[in-house]
Amino acid sequence: MDKFTQKYVDGFMSDLIARNPGEPEFHQAVREVVENVAPYITAYPHLMDLKIMERIAEPERVIMFRVPWMDDRGVVQINRGYRVQMNSAIGPYKGGIRFHASVNLSIMKFLAFEQTFKNALTTLPMGGAKGGSDFNPRGKSDAEVMRFCQSFMTELQRHIGQDTDVPAGDIGVGGREIGYLFGQYKRLRDEFTGTLTGKGLAWGGSLLRPEATGYGLCYFAEQMLATRGESFKDKTVLVSGAGNVAQYAAKKAVSLGAKVVTMSDSDGFIHDPEGLNEEKLAYIFELKNIRRGRISEYASRFPSAKYYPGERPWRIPCDIALPCATQNEIEKADAEKLVAGGCFCVAEGANMPSTPEAIAIFLGNKLLYSPGKASNAGGVATSGLEMSQNSMRRKWTAEEVDEQLRRIMSDIHAACLKYGTCEDGYVNYVKGANIAGFIKVAGAMVDQGLV
Ligand code: NDP
Repeated sequence: MDKFTQKYVDGFMSDLIARNPGEPEFHQAVREVVENVAPYITAYPHLMDLKIMERIAEPERVIMFRVPWMDDRGVVQINRGYRVQMNSAIGPYKGGIRFHASVNLSIMKFLAFEQTFKNALTTLPMGGAKGGSDFNPRGKSDAEVMRFCQSFMTELQRHIGQDTDVPAGDIGVGGREIGYLFGQYKRLRDEFTGTLTGKGLAWGGSLLRPEATGYGLCYFAEQMLATRGESFKDKTVLVSGAGNVAQYAAKKAVSLGAKVVTMSDSDGFIHDPEGLNEEKLAYIFELKNIRRGRISEYASRFPSAKYYPGERPWRIPCDIALPCATQNEIEKADAEKLVAGGCFCVAEGANMPSTPEAIAIFLGNKLLYSPGKASNAGGVATSGLEMSQNSMRRKWTAEEVDEQLRRIMSDIHAACLKYGTCEDGYVNYVKGANIAGFIKVAGAMVDQGLV
């Protein structure tokens, strides 16, 4: 990076940190993008004059609200709700809702920022947003989750709509929660529209939406592997997480011939050297989605597996890693262990699961490495397809949705190659995704004037 560009990055980041104190995840996400797009911005001075990057890093609107609800014992509980509407240059705001005890403004802003670029990469007309609450669904009864969702939506419904902002699921928000949220939205607004995605199949949901993030991740990874004449066949794969993304990533990887040997949750991970098969996958789906149990139970059910409490899976030797749990779950030491264990491909299903230090290890060792904003975009892309089906009042077959999902992942991969291929032929997918997403959003913002 030349001196002028470095000065631009330094000045930009010190202003951003001063304006947004105490938001480390947001700083981390913005820094990665700014470092990649700065040479492009300084090469086109009108982007500097129009302060495009400064505007992209400032949410268009942030909504924070009280969410009061009553638990099963009759005790009043208070949580905090958020919706960060980051950027609407290329379409209505779109992005998931996360219910997790760790949710705060920094995490909401990092996710909304990432979402803006990811949505641009899908080629569909969707702006970026994210929302959620510090509500922890773990151990709550269905009735408690329903009362919480109803209270959350009672405020959120003022700020969303099918042409304004269309939320979806994320950590802690799956089919059950989307159902309760949608029910309350419909009741308060007296309209049946596609304002939420991830809906049930009988009431406006798209076939393959639950599968889309995990399947899309594997389609993207397949393309990465193909650039080196490789495939999933007979590869050892580590998956982290055991939720929506992890389950379908594991399922697709197994169907493509891989041996998936780990899954995890926030308490620890299981290692099954024999690999998951159909029976074991079915057990995990039932365990996590119906019984809402812990991954440790897998090791009691299948003696081939061992459970490691309080640990992450990255020290297990592998060919491919698919982190599908949460942000910053691969730190520098984990990345070093992955490289030492023979891993040559890391495709992110989660959002920002690798720290900047871990990413530096991957890039330094010339691994195939894709950031979540590229490789997990299949989820929001299929949400976009759900919106199209809702608008047309039509329902596409699973084959039609799958074909579009594959095409979109392939287009995102092509965009990464276009903007991320280095002189020595190595593909820097981070750079490719950031520049491709930026060009699209920045172009739309220039066209629309100072708004
Ligand atoms: P789920 O809630 O279905 O699953 C999350 C999984 O990650 C659970 O196994 C959970 O374990 C684990 N996890 C959560 N927080 C932590 C933590 N702090 N440390 C270790 N493990 C943790 O969420 P999703 O599968 O939907 O989301 C997973 C990731 O994928 C997130 O980063 C999300 O933003 C991203 N993503 C999701 C999309 C989607 O369509 N759902 C789309 C694109 C990205 P536990 O049960 O113990 O909490």
